[in-house]
Amino acid sequence: MEKKVRKLNLHTVTIMLKNLPLFPLLYRRLRIGLGETAWNNYNQQRQAVSMPPAALLYFTAFILLFMPGACHQPVAPQVLPGVSQELAQMRKQQIEEVRYRLHFFLPEQQDQPVRGSLELEVKLAHTRTDLVLDVQPGAISQLLLSGKELQPRLVHDHLLISRDLLQKGANHLKIAFTAADPALNRNAAYLYTLFVPNKASTVFPCFDQPDIKARYELSLDIPAGWVAVSNAPLRRRETRGARAQYYFAPTLPISTYHFAFTAGKFHSLSSRLQGREFTLYHLETDTAKVQRNAATIFELHAQALQWMESYTAIAYPFQKFDMVLIPAFQFGGMEHPGAIFYKARLLFLEENAGIGQKLRRNSIIAHETAHNWFGNLVTMKWFNDVWLKEVFANFMAAKMVHPNFPEVNHQLRFIHSHQPAAYEEDRSAGTHPVQQPLPNLREASLLYGSIIYQKAPVAMKQLESMMGETAFRQGLQAYLQAFPFGNASWDDLIRILNAHTPADLASWSRAWVKEAGMPWLKAKLDIQDGKIKAYSLSLENRSSGGYTWPQQTALVVGKNGNTRLFPLFIDQAQNRLKDLEGLEAPDYILPNGSEMAYGYFQLDPASEAYLLEHLPLLQDEFLRQAAWLCLWEGMLRGHIAPARLMQSLMNCLRQEPELLVLSDRLDNLVTLYWGFFDQQTRLSTYGGVEDSLWQWMLREVEADRKTVFFKTFMAIAQHPKSLQKLDDLWHNKLQIPGLKLTELDHTQLLYELSVRNWPGVEAMLQQ
Ligand SMILES: [Zn+2]
Repeated sequence: MEKKVRKLNLHTVTIMLKNLPLFPLLYRRLRIGLGETAWNNYNQQRQAVSMPPAALLYFTAFILLFMPGACHQPVAPQVLPGVSQELAQMRKQQIEEVRYRLHFFLPEQQDQPVRGSLELEVKLAHTRTDLVLDVQPGAISQLLLSGKELQPRLVHDHLLISRDLLQKGANHLKIAFTAADPALNRNAAYLYTLFVPNKASTVFPCFDQPDIKARYELSLDIPAGWVAVSNAPLRRRETRGARAQYYFAPTLPISTYHFAFTAGKFHSLSSRLQGREFTLYHLETDTAKVQRNAATIFELHAQALQWMESYTAIAYPFQKFDMVLIPAFQFGGMEHPGAIFYKARLLFLEENAGIGQKLRRNSIIAHETAHNWFGNLVTMKWFNDVWLKEVFANFMAAKMVHPNFPEVNHQLRFIHSHQPAAYEEDRSAGTHPVQQPLPNLREASLLYGSIIYQKAPVAMKQLESMMGETAFRQGLQAYLQAFPFGNASWDDLIRILNAHTPADLASWSRAWVKEAGMPWLKAKLDIQDGKIKAYSLSLENRSSGGYTWPQQTALVVGKNGNTRLFPLFIDQAQNRLKDLEGLEAPDYILPNGSEMAYGYFQLDPASEAYLLEHLPLLQDEFLRQAAWLCLWEGMLRGHIAPARLMQSLMNCLRQEPELLVLSDRLDNLVTLYWGFFDQQTRLSTYGGVEDSLWQWMLREVEADRKTVFFKTFMAIAQHPKSLQKLDDLWHNKLQIPGLKLTELDHTQLLYELSVRNWPGVEAMLQQ
């Protein structure tokens, strides 16, 4: 799955409030935002108004007495709404083999319900407990066990089959049901399923957990003008009047969240590359756009497949390779085995697409293709390890795609898109480990966030670096070979990798994956007689469980514009770098000179002073970004005064040539300006900042650079003459050559003026 990470801004908060199911996310963010003390106070206040213990006891007794199925001792504790981990583990013990024979009738009219029938073959290891299926409440119209009709026994969103009626070994159930619409994504001309993480059971009764893999044999009854695609190859198609019947072959063993189908007025085209057939389904009416992109899309998939087969030494494990391009798909892509679903516009690029869009397209294709091994062939046991398949897919994608774009500074892009967002969460008291507990699958979507998407990839780079590329690859091959079409946990992976390295991966895993927090490493530099006498990095804190964070970094020693790199593996509380001793006193030493360095690297005072003054002199844009991370973190932690950093920042902005770095610094400027000074200081001391931004914007030639300066100007403009400029731009009285404002920019402009109580804003809103 390729998903966009939510950033907590005003917009997301509004959306979250509007979508109540997302409320628990807000709850977690609230905890992070409040910090531990405030959070505890908040909880104490909440507890003060909650039930006293005696009342709680009566309440529990009442629930136990009247809860449906409560008298049935063995299953009662597990049958909660959603799929609890306890239920999942119980089922995993009981269920040995599953086969779903599914049929759906897909009406052309969106307001008609989708009805289906299921023949379920399930082999049981024992009948000590009832069999629990997950279903949409009210969905079942008929239920037969071994041909005998039963009255459905429903508890919450589960169907219970009494253990007295079951037999050890094969059991045969027939169920007629109506599917709920949300996970079917119904549109006028098409529909598609999206079941990740646990939505399959809203469409058909099933065991909706990743570690009960099954074979699915699907047939569909669809409007004759439609085309259907699913995980397995089509066996035959028959047309009867206005309807068409599609019969698909059984799938290989896959999880419920992998199972997918789509039907609609799709066009298709195929290509044969490297002896393999690829088929692309789409709804695009612009044939020139299809022609322009199709060959590249096929080529990129073939490349990715070949790369993965070579890296894993395992042939593509599924029956066919289709891609379905859907206009309003929720994610960038979803890795359904045999039929990857994509957001169409990310693959069908416009004629003038830039390198960024091409890189993104290649990355998504590589990411989804890599999932066929990491996620599809070997799947997590439980969704608390969902991060692992995502990190692997990105990790493999980066290896595949980066050589295709030699003009891009990938190292810079990596620390631009990972460390800052990860630190934002990881430095707070409310941070959490990469691997989080997940008591119920209903909460699976809450696991996604900066720690999974931004910290875990850094950890994976560290892991590979610690083991070495070859050992890491061999370890991954052994892992994939150990669990084909099965499930494995993070601990299974670490156990297997451990056999390929002398390093202590169990301790490493505890600090990086199972415990929360980021290291704070403080540098100390001793100079004597113009030479380095000693340089050390001392660890000032520990992980939540008391561990150090072993990590590979590189020290950059800078002198007169030249740099030397010294690799350093940090695994002690005190790390002394003897290689530096005796070197001529440098201008600065940067301890996080690798893209996989993670933590707050507090510079030694001499390096800090030099970099605050001369950061723009660093030739390498990656080093400018890395050095800034140290300074910014130092300011946030109170080691560098905001005013001192502001001075340094303005100096950087004046001369930063790299757009990515420039945009990041401008974001920092907005945070610093509004978050760290009072209004009087903003107006008096920093009254000239708006003017500088305006002048720099005018000076720029490139549209992208002009835009980032303008947006920052808009975000901090306060003086009446600045606001008048915005007003003039809105009314087209002022035009800046080369500056193109989008619809969104105009909305933002109006927003900025209205929060500053600009007198003309009422009239502008009327327009
Ligand atoms: Zn993914």
